Amino acid sequence: AQTHLTLRQAPTEVKELSQSFDRMLGRLAIAWEQQRRFLSDVSHELRTPLTLVQGYLQSTLRRCQTLSDSQREGLEIAAAEADRTIQVLQDLLDWARLNSGQRHITLEAFDLKAVLLEVAILTPTYQERIIVDIETAPVIVQADRQCLKQVLIHLIDNAIRYSEPKQPVILRLQQQANWAIIQVCDRGRGIPEADQPHIFDPFYRVDVDRSRATGGTGLGLSIVKQLVETMQGHIVVSSTLGEGSVFSVSLPA
Ligand code: ADP
Repeated sequence: AQTHLTLRQAPTEVKELSQSFDRMLGRLAIAWEQQRRFLSDVSHELRTPLTLVQGYLQSTLRRCQTLSDSQREGLEIAAAEADRTIQVLQDLLDWARLNSGQRHITLEAFDLKAVLLEVAILTPTYQERIIVDIETAPVIVQADRQCLKQVLIHLIDNAIRYSEPKQPVILRLQQQANWAIIQVCDRGRGIPEADQPHIFDPFYRVDVDRSRATGGTGLGLSIVKQLVETMQGHIVVSSTLGEGSVFSVSLPA
């Protein structure tokens, strides 16, 4: 095999190399698209019957008065598991949709403070755990309302899941120059420094067993990051192990 290129051979060799590199990139892009489509189709095919199963379980639990305690308990566990699996499938679908550019966003001007309060109040543990620490006047942003709600719901859900049941989750909002900054702060277990650069990667989980036990797929933050960036914003985390984490989302105000 030839190990050195002579000057005269170089252009042809370089051209061939560049063509084979292009071919490789093309094959990679096709493989990536096939993988994304497969994930999306499988998630969709599984979610539809599972939603039906969950519907039957819920209606049996509601309507059937003759169930014994153990039968009721069994059905409740099955319904909770179905619920968790549907959420995992929904994450996979969202992720696949975002990666195909199929999710379209609609930017409109609205008051971020009002949306933040709305999401906070709808959080199931609002009374016990959520502290809204907002002193600012309305903050008008140009964003997609649904995307923003999805981002906030996920960050608040994580803050709750990764901290002890009695610990508060604090929501802050401030405006700095042309940026609106939302902070979701918890006093949970924190994230090791080495893991912090990776938590926005798809499927990345710091503690796989614990994450699975709390219902995680490792896709949530990757979806959140993509949604925030689609709205021309950015997200960062600051966290200390054993003390808690702060997720800050900045959006153009
Ligand atoms: P998951 O569905 O596993 O929660 P995410 O993408 O939302 O996936 O988060 C990725 C990982 O980042 C989680 O598995 C968890 O280890 C870590 N993490 C996210 N939010 C927090 C938080 N508020 N406190 C501690 N760890 C967190």
